[in-house]
Amino acid sequence: MEKRIIVKGKLIKYRINKSLWAKNMRISVSCDAGVVLTLPRSISEKIAEEFLLQKIGWVLKKIRYFKDFEKIKYSKKDYLKNKETARKMIEEKILSFNKIYDFRFKRIAIRNQKTRWGSCSKDGNLNFNYKIIHLPEELQNYIIIHELCHLEEFNHSKKFWKLVERFFPDYKRARRNLRKIIL
Ligand SMILES: [Zn+2]
Repeated sequence: MEKRIIVKGKLIKYRINKSLWAKNMRISVSCDAGVVLTLPRSISEKIAEEFLLQKIGWVLKKIRYFKDFEKIKYSKKDYLKNKETARKMIEEKILSFNKIYDFRFKRIAIRNQKTRWGSCSKDGNLNFNYKIIHLPEELQNYIIIHELCHLEEFNHSKKFWKLVERFFPDYKRARRNLRKIIL
């Protein structure tokens, strides 16, 4: 069911999801800025609303983030502006993740691609879309770990996902969230 509250002059719509399994109250904001409040059955909606109000700063921040993300207009200018920042961020993350994996690779290239976030070539080159600079950090990490693991497993086999899982236990959720973001 959809509920509404007004906070600081802003109308916030949210859905309540009563769960048999939830032990605690939980709030999530998805990429389309939808707010879902998950509750154990025993919690009343009044208490749930108070909980939402306590966390409202975080909720507003998330909503703003995803709305801003939608507004990004990719352009050559945006690419040139962010390319080197993206490179630095990606290289740092790769070095830190690869301390554990210890895979060999040749070079890292940053591109302005229309259809993919990253790729890995058979001869060990890693390519990343500069646009990942605009993603939440969780998704940046997921994309980087995903491509890094292709250095070892050049497919999407069970073995591959086991490698990803080592650093990213919640990869399924990240994968789902990433699909919702249109490049
Ligand atoms: Zn892949």
